[in-house]
Amino acid sequence: MRQDFKEIGHTGGKISFSIFGDDDGKVSFSTEYSSSSPFPATLSGIYAHHTIGICSTLKLGGMGEPFNEPPLPECIPVFLASDSEGKFGHDCPVCNKHFRSESLPVNSPLICPYCGLHAAAHKFITKSQTKYVEHYVSQLYMAFETVRPGSEQVCEIDMDSIAGDLEKEPVPDYYYTSTAQQTEFKCQACSRYNDIRGRFGYCSSCGTRNNKASFKEYLDTVREQVNKKGVRPEDAIKQIISDFDSTCRNYVSELVKKVRMKRSRKNELTKIKFHEIDHFCEVLERNFDFKLKKPLSQNEYLVAKKLFLRRHVYEHNGGEATEQYIRESDDTSVQIGELLRESIENVHSLSNILSKMIDVLHDDFLELFPPEKFFIEIKKQRDQRWSKNKE
Ligand SMILES: [Zn+2]
Ligand SMILES: [Zn+2]
Repeated sequence: MRQDFKEIGHTGGKISFSIFGDDDGKVSFSTEYSSSSPFPATLSGIYAHHTIGICSTLKLGGMGEPFNEPPLPECIPVFLASDSEGKFGHDCPVCNKHFRSESLPVNSPLICPYCGLHAAAHKFITKSQTKYVEHYVSQLYMAFETVRPGSEQVCEIDMDSIAGDLEKEPVPDYYYTSTAQQTEFKCQACSRYNDIRGRFGYCSSCGTRNNKASFKEYLDTVREQVNKKGVRPEDAIKQIISDFDSTCRNYVSELVKKVRMKRSRKNELTKIKFHEIDHFCEVLERNFDFKLKKPLSQNEYLVAKKLFLRRHVYEHNGGEATEQYIRESDDTSVQIGELLRESIENVHSLSNILSKMIDVLHDDFLELFPPEKFFIEIKKQRDQRWSKNKE
């Protein structure tokens, strides 16, 4: 398991500038990035102005494809190389938290996994990346001023040599790194990489929350353990419902943050008990028209209700049937004080039922907060090409 919040070094590489002064004293330049480092390297870019600072993201394009137009004629295209895992660190300008993704998108905003801010990627530049951009622009401007008419001047920013000298102090402030977070996930909607603090968050490329995928992953792990007899079915029921509770609670806390509501409604929502199925289904339907029961058959709903009641017995009564359990569940197979016996089949039934309920919660949440389409469309087109190739 990787270490939380470990610093991830820069991938290295060299930026070389060739500055040309023509006979009339007009200056032009070209830039080249080269890398011989053994680490994965990805390039992104931004436009920066020597007095205004960072102005916009830069579309690097493919071979022979020109960059997008700069927002101002004097803006300089600045190459930013990734960290040594091929990813980029970002700081949210609103909540100030750090996260990592695979690029600085140009055709779509970057999204903060924590507060959900949608903004142009250059707004998420970290302090050390800003220092690098300042250094980059000042190097170039210094060369512009010193190049003689009719000559060429070459200068470079060598990140390889800094990366090789990290033990020696001081590291220049323009040497930027990123910080490993706690949960790496590939978004199921757009397939893009994310690295976030905590467990749940928005995908930084499309804005789809990862709760549903994370819960289903957890269900798969528990089901596998139960099948291998590594976990008792009664413990699995407790674990699954507890994880369902955390997953749903997280969606609801986003709703409380993002939907304008009176304090009384806020209070009701923050106190929802996700181990009482009738209660949470009713509260979510009344407040948001989320119909979590909708995909369940009558029988599935009764099975779920009984297993939620059994969880209560496992959690609070050492597994011995209580009068309340028998009354509310209509379970005639046990007497008060007898131990409930749980089956593996019940674990699988509960997993299937909760999986359907999470689908509804996730889809209804997306209806209120629709994702950005750009990377989802790219994934769709890629998937279609793959399936055509297979035919
Ligand atoms: Zn934020
Ligand atoms: Zn996504």
